[in-house]
Amino acid sequence: MARKTIIAGNWKMNLLPAQAEELTFGLKEQVESKPNLEVVVFPQAPLIPLVVDWIMDSAILVGAQNSSDAISGAFTGETSPQLLKILGCQYCLSGHSERRQIFGESDLVVAKKVKTLLEFGITPVVCVGETLEERESNRYEEIIKKQVMAVFDELENDSWGRLVFAYEPVWAIGTGKTATPEQADEIHKHIRNIIAEKAGEIISNATSILYGGSVKPGNAAEILAKNDIDGLLIGGASLKSDDFSKIISAFN
Ligand code: PEP
Repeated sequence: MARKTIIAGNWKMNLLPAQAEELTFGLKEQVESKPNLEVVVFPQAPLIPLVVDWIMDSAILVGAQNSSDAISGAFTGETSPQLLKILGCQYCLSGHSERRQIFGESDLVVAKKVKTLLEFGITPVVCVGETLEERESNRYEEIIKKQVMAVFDELENDSWGRLVFAYEPVWAIGTGKTATPEQADEIHKHIRNIIAEKAGEIISNATSILYGGSVKPGNAAEILAKNDIDGLLIGGASLKSDDFSKIISAFN
């Protein structure tokens, strides 16, 4: 079964409404719908209703950058996945390395967030990846396995096929350093093997695994060409409609 390719733009805590509008309309002009490709943008939460309005009649989808593991209640500053669903989000990032590192999200918290997102039919994009220190001490495979397994262990087996993963080596995010396509593909295969061990070959072969970390128009095509890389999660380069569109056109 052909896996879906997803090209996702994580806007992080950037863009005011006027800038987001210009970027979205720039993208709308350049992104054509292609079979088996989904283009998703991840704005800051308060921009989501505006972006949902702007992308109407286009091939672009909207996701959120974070969600609570609870549905409602006394959780000041958090955003409910139920609200995200009502606003029109189809995807949500879970466990982005900035959430893990700056906001201290543990593997268990990430797993609980994934579980609640699935209750509302939002597809979690589960971000996993090692730090530079973990890579240099050769512990990266074990760290990634722990991050992936924490999510599966929290879910009932009928949800195992509803996940998207993103491999994002922390040392490559926003640093200008990119994993080589071979390094990335090796970890994607590792993730696919972990999924196969836990959930079986059918689910493993159907799960899209994206790569993220300093992807640019100049390196997108060779990364996407790898067998086990099913899309891209892009930070910096998703903030310029020309760059993001060029990356999207690397998929054919
Ligand atoms: C990201 O934030 O997920 C990311 C990959 O950022 P960048 O493309 O800027 O490295």
